[in-house]
Amino acid sequence: MNFKDKIRVIPDYPQPGIKFKDITTLLKDGKMFKVAIDQLVERFKDHEIDVIVGPEARGFVVGTPMSYAMEIGFVPVRKPGKLPSETVEAKYSLEYGKDSLAIHKDAIEPGQRVLIADDLLATGGTIAATLDLIKQLGGIPVGAAFMIELSYLNGRDQLEGIDVFSLVQY
Ligand code: 5GP
Repeated sequence: MNFKDKIRVIPDYPQPGIKFKDITTLLKDGKMFKVAIDQLVERFKDHEIDVIVGPEARGFVVGTPMSYAMEIGFVPVRKPGKLPSETVEAKYSLEYGKDSLAIHKDAIEPGQRVLIADDLLATGGTIAATLDLIKQLGGIPVGAAFMIELSYLNGRDQLEGIDVFSLVQY
């Protein structure tokens, strides 16, 4: 059984023409979920990462178990209005739509080495905005870890100079 067998593809969700990669079917298999997180941790364990940043909501699902395993902090990136303290914001465009993301102003120390984690890299819009936020705070984006990469959308082009790794490619 490989990761792809565990990822359910839903046609026309959330819009006609989109083939949504549903990771809930992978997450509910505890052994596969652990293997997936272990492989991402293994890939980045020697990168001297200080903190992991994950965009809501599925970035939390990937980023927090990595954080726990690597014994480093986790910083949430959220939609504006959701974080309780002072924030900075960045705009981005999605595979389907436009939005903004926010991070707490004091979440990253200048010079800290940052790993970004999310479930899926599509156009790279979400990650470009996350990168923008990290840079606004003076963090150094070092790597980006994904369960899934939609290679045909070339999201990697938004991540030049950063070590990008995904477990599964479409
Ligand atoms: P991007 O900003 O790279 O175009 O889109 C990636 C973001 O949208 C990720 O945060 C991801 O959670 C979400 N996303 C877009 N398409 C899919 C999909 O097919 N499956 C899942 N699970 N998430 C998606």
